[in-house]
Amino acid sequence: MKNKVKFIIKSLYICLLIIISSFLYTNFTFSNEDSCSSKQLYEDNYKKEKTELDEEINCIEKRIIDVLIIYDENIILDNVLINNIKNRFKEVNEFYLSNYNIEWQIANYQKFNFDKKTNNLSGLFSLHKDDISKLTNNIKAEVVLALIQRDINGIGIAATFSNVAMVADSLKFSNYLNSVVIAHEFAHLFGAWHTQRKNDFMLFSGANKLSSSNESNTILKLMRNYNFDYKTIINKEVMLNRISRLYKRHHAKGEIDPVARLLTDVGQSLYQNKMYDESINLLIKSNKYYGRWGKTRMILSKNYYELDLLQDSFTEYTRAVFFGSKPDKGYENKLKKKFIDLQKIDPTINNPFNLNN
Ligand SMILES: [Zn+2]
Repeated sequence: MKNKVKFIIKSLYICLLIIISSFLYTNFTFSNEDSCSSKQLYEDNYKKEKTELDEEINCIEKRIIDVLIIYDENIILDNVLINNIKNRFKEVNEFYLSNYNIEWQIANYQKFNFDKKTNNLSGLFSLHKDDISKLTNNIKAEVVLALIQRDINGIGIAATFSNVAMVADSLKFSNYLNSVVIAHEFAHLFGAWHTQRKNDFMLFSGANKLSSSNESNTILKLMRNYNFDYKTIINKEVMLNRISRLYKRHHAKGEIDPVARLLTDVGQSLYQNKMYDESINLLIKSNKYYGRWGKTRMILSKNYYELDLLQDSFTEYTRAVFFGSKPDKGYENKLKKKFIDLQKIDPTINNPFNLNN
């Protein structure tokens, strides 16, 4: 009995020691990352970056960006519409010139056959994005602005660090708010993300002013010479990390890290081109920047499926749905069936779908 008590006391003592030491360890690592001095250093660094950026913006030459405007086939490009678009660009340019010394110039207009059945802008965008992006290949324009003039869900969309923005309006783009939307979507092309600052044109929803917060200014000044070709930045770790750090300082609630967006977008097109290993590499990297995005997990799962890494495929599929992706029933059934087929060959293989039932 006495021995038993001694043993319990001894065990408790060891447990206590472990708890204290792990507490000290976490405290130590935290203090290392967040101590006053290193924080100060970070602030100083940031200040330095900011002044450097301000100097850059003051001494740099004006950047002119040529824009190809494409418009839905049902749109009649009459003088009223052309005038409205010119006025929108005038307002956008007043803002971009005074803040970033950037001017957007309409290079050309071109008709484009957009899918008629899709009734939300983001669906329409993902359907045509890749084709639209290629339109600048052999012309002077760097960016494409797509105009949709019909009753559709959504007013504007752009892919981060891409060269494609899309705006929708059923009233011929006659309003100042259309200018805010265009300016907002253009900013996404430089990597800008949504903020929660009321007076910021990058406000997550309902931006109604052409004014900018510190965060949006910083990313735009940093990326103002970006050529809208992701291949030129995707391997620049230092730059990507810097962008991610800026994003972390302030962003709208639930906003996805723009670097993760970039990596996932490229990972998705690699997946579509059946380059599974390359896609997986990028998606894993994307998860390191932002691990709670269902889209990344879903594409990762589908990549693993193609490589017959079924267990990983299942894990990532579960995570995708957990992080908010819509369950893809067709794909889920395919995955289930693969497990069943495998079990026929080797009955010891677990079908994880059965564990869930
Ligand atoms: Zn936006």
